[in-house]
Amino acid sequence: MPERVIPLADQRYAAAVPRVPEHPAAPSGLLADQLGRPLRDLRISVTDRCNFRCGYCMPKEVFDKNYAFLPHSSLLSFEEITRTARLFIAHGVRKLRLTGGEPLLRKNVEELVAQLSALRTPDGAPLDLTLTTNGSLLARKAQALKDAGLQRVTVSLDALDDAVFRRMNDVDFPVDDVLRSIERAMQVGLGPVKINMVVKRGTNDHEIVRMARHFRGTGAVLRFIEYMDVGASNGWRMDEVLPSKEVIARLQSEFALEPMQPQSEGETAQRWRYADGQGEIGVISSVTQAFCRDCNRARLSTEGKLFLCLFATRGHDLRALLRGGFSDEQIAAAIAPIWQRRDDRYSELRSAMPREQGADAAAPKRVEMHYIGG
Ligand code: SF4
Repeated sequence: MPERVIPLADQRYAAAVPRVPEHPAAPSGLLADQLGRPLRDLRISVTDRCNFRCGYCMPKEVFDKNYAFLPHSSLLSFEEITRTARLFIAHGVRKLRLTGGEPLLRKNVEELVAQLSALRTPDGAPLDLTLTTNGSLLARKAQALKDAGLQRVTVSLDALDDAVFRRMNDVDFPVDDVLRSIERAMQVGLGPVKINMVVKRGTNDHEIVRMARHFRGTGAVLRFIEYMDVGASNGWRMDEVLPSKEVIARLQSEFALEPMQPQSEGETAQRWRYADGQGEIGVISSVTQAFCRDCNRARLSTEGKLFLCLFATRGHDLRALLRGGFSDEQIAAAIAPIWQRRDDRYSELRSAMPREQGADAAAPKRVEMHYIGG
């Protein structure tokens, strides 16, 4: 039976309802896609809303007061998210990352953390449970998240200069509040805290060395992320990308750095340590050094659509199955072929595509990052 594409209330992204096999096979935990990549990491967006308007993700002129965010009724409930996570764990997932939008805007999100932290792998091990936040609400919530079972946090911070930071978040949010949140997260033991800085040439690249100096020796791991052409709204241009090679060169002019081995399969960051033992930094180079070859990440949108790549243009509607009376076995069996057919490697192919976002008006729109998480 051919797959049906159901135009959901949210027309933004087409999503096929997966076919449920007549004889569902039990998950083996060894799923591999067309490039032999296992399914290990599930990123779960718990809200499409955010209280920041970072230009590289949710530019204010697009995500303005008239923007129709998803109604609460269309969001997956905490129970539906936990059920879905359990099915992905049976397929081999070992890491869960909560994202958004801004995940701490989702009411009582610590209850979801408690549900997810109780999950176990088939051999009884806990999952690696982490969360990415802009830090605006973290100081208040850090202890409750830790108590609920969250292990680590990643905080986005694009500058130390208050004026630059306020300009980049575009809601005039002060940098000191985020720095206080990072400190609080460390205090309650949500470390090692990772700090993500999106580097945009001509906007905040002059802050690279200052950020490194600030976080050196603190135990936090600062990562420099190349500015990406995610979604269809940020007006991305290649000449605003500062290649990671240049970031490292700037840092090496100040600090002795040594390359490190990856910590886990599918790790996105290239790691470097300070030769004097003051900790480590990382670079995430999706534009100039694609890492699709061992990308083991799937993404679940806020209302239950499964996306197989950050740069996808269409998803798979799992919510229809979750709310359609199908059993866990049936839904798990419907998920398997989706991953097995996966051949996404957008970043590898990017260099063969038009340089400027939107250059090919006919091309289907890429999913927005606030909707499926970074
Ligand atoms: S571009 Fe897609 S396939 Fe490549 S690393 Fe990113 S998410 Fe994975």
